Amino acid sequence: MQMPEPNAAILSRKAGIVTALRAVLPADAVIDDPAETLAYECDALSAYRCPPLAVVLPRTTAEVAAALRILQAEGVPVVPRGAGTSLAGGSMPTADAVVVGLARMNRVLEVDYDDRFIRVEAGRTNLSVTGAVEADGFFYAPDPSSQLACAISGNIAMNSGGAHCLKYGVTTNNLLGVTLVTMAGEVVTIGGPWSDAPGLDLLGVVCGSEGQLGIVTEAWLRILPKPEGARPVLIGFAANEVAGACVSDIIREGVLPVAIEFMDRPCIIATEAFAHAGYPDCEALLIVEVEGSEPEIAEQIALIRAIAERHDPVEFREARTEEEARRIWLGRKSAFGAMGQMGDYMCLDGTIPVSALPEVLRRIGDLSRDYGLDVANVFHAGDGNMHPLILFDANKPGDLQLCEALGADILRLCVEVGGCLTGEHGVGVEKRDLMEAQFNPDDLEAQLRVKDVFDPNWLLNPAKVFPLHVSASRRVAA
Ligand SMILES: Cc1cc2nc3c(=O)[nH]c(=O)nc-3n(C[C@H](O)[C@H](O)[C@H](O)COP(=O)(O)OP(=O)(O)OC[C@H]3O[C@@H](n4cnc5c(N)ncnc54)[C@H](O)[C@@H]3O)c2cc1C
Repeated sequence: MQMPEPNAAILSRKAGIVTALRAVLPADAVIDDPAETLAYECDALSAYRCPPLAVVLPRTTAEVAAALRILQAEGVPVVPRGAGTSLAGGSMPTADAVVVGLARMNRVLEVDYDDRFIRVEAGRTNLSVTGAVEADGFFYAPDPSSQLACAISGNIAMNSGGAHCLKYGVTTNNLLGVTLVTMAGEVVTIGGPWSDAPGLDLLGVVCGSEGQLGIVTEAWLRILPKPEGARPVLIGFAANEVAGACVSDIIREGVLPVAIEFMDRPCIIATEAFAHAGYPDCEALLIVEVEGSEPEIAEQIALIRAIAERHDPVEFREARTEEEARRIWLGRKSAFGAMGQMGDYMCLDGTIPVSALPEVLRRIGDLSRDYGLDVANVFHAGDGNMHPLILFDANKPGDLQLCEALGADILRLCVEVGGCLTGEHGVGVEKRDLMEAQFNPDDLEAQLRVKDVFDPNWLLNPAKVFPLHVSASRRVAA
């Protein structure tokens, strides 16, 4: 992975930059000791690392604004950071950048059940948003598997999804408004506690913008009443392609489960060893969850069973108790972590039309054989959001590069069949150089112009999202 050379002039001015930050922030909010900044050298794409120049940990929007005003004046790049769980290298620093971490901004600011929203500071973890309202029968729907750790700020920047987004939509469908600090230190409110704010849809521009446009410090989020009941079923199949065809049929026939998740044999083995969820012994597994009243659940499960039986399932089993359901989801949500038992892996994230699932699973198998690297699959199948996990040996010379080349071919395949490079993990550094496989120069230029407006000096989150040769001219001009 190529990264730009750090700006030597900035490196040489480190002491002065840190002193200027300390003059406007509390003493414990600025970290510059290399032993401590090392903790921020990477995110969950840990194959790539680079410690930052310094780290700032503000407690208020005003402190974020004060820090950005100094860094803008000093011409220092800034890398916004939530919890650092990005799988795309989105929060990986450059050596001349200051990380602005939101972890200390984690308070609930307002809960309104009549208008069904919660306002939180953006460093609050995803799961603890639901934690704040579940005793009153409400929940926040987007549920990334990393929800115990990841922050709302990262969810907004990456437009994150999760298993239950098939029914409820991803972050952008559940975000009502944000407080955003621009690189110039201006504090702006976009949207608010209502569903559709007047004016241009700038909220749609900010959500998914990967820290390129400003730093989100607060968010209004939609909360929903918990459903009456929910039940997952496990459906085992003899081959990946057959499971893929079943997903395609479920969607085509208009059944709308709340989640359809896919796991192949390597993932089933790894997660079963961890969660003891009672997953069937099969080549491919679907976890399909439906919700509603008891008669609604029974009707939907009957429809799903009828569709599944056309694909000769080796097993079809409903969760019988809440504990069984909990373990089924514990297994699925721990799958990426559990796969660590198998060795090093790189997790991809592309989308495809659901109808292309059988073909794409077959061609991923072919590519895996061609490259001589195993690929495991665990993903949100209902909305065609694939997560092939490429297994490699980080200690074997050349294996990482081979893995990157295979990953690029798989993502090109997603684009070829009508999908896109990222469903929920974002572009970051990981898919930056593939953007031209998805967008022509005019499309990319339009995106660059949006960045020009919000961040004219091109200081926010450098070397991410846009291919380096595309963004280089902008950085020089700035
Ligand atoms: C085990 C595991 C499972 C995962 N499962 C899922 C999943 O199911 N669905 C899913 O969508 N993702 C998943 N992810 C990926 C990751 O958790 C998400 O991308 C998440 O939203 C990142 O949140 P974060 O707070 O950790 O962000 P970070 O990693 O800190 O940052 C991510 C991006 O957001 C930017 N950013 C952070 N804070 C701000 C801010 N305040 N303002 C502006 N930009 C900001 C950063 O610069 C970076 O570009 C998973 C990751 C892991 C490790």
